Amino acid sequence: MFAEYGKDTVVIPLDHTSYEHCPKCETNCLHSLVLQYEYTHVYYIFGQLGSQKFYSVCDKCQHGSERNLDDADRRGFIRVIPFLHRYGFHVIAVLGILGTAGAFMVNSLSKK
Ligand SMILES: [Zn+2]
Repeated sequence: MFAEYGKDTVVIPLDHTSYEHCPKCETNCLHSLVLQYEYTHVYYIFGQLGSQKFYSVCDKCQHGSERNLDDADRRGFIRVIPFLHRYGFHVIAVLGILGTAGAFMVNSLSKK
């Protein structure tokens, strides 16, 4: 069996806006917060979360600058990442253990 795996980058706009100075527009204008994260995946479904970065993006010109958020804010926003992109490898491990245990049980029952 051939497993397709790799790395992917996803950008999620967050429901958070604020007025900030844009160096490109040279005015105070509305900026939206976006989350960009990398994850290693198997079949694009089961993943392991890699780096996460937050950007403040100008709504007029799309110029973005990286934002440093404190840990509480990070944890709050990271919840938007799909569960299987964060803990997919754990799910594979649990399914593997359950499958192996099930196979041993069926095998031992059939020998009696
Ligand atoms: Zn701008």
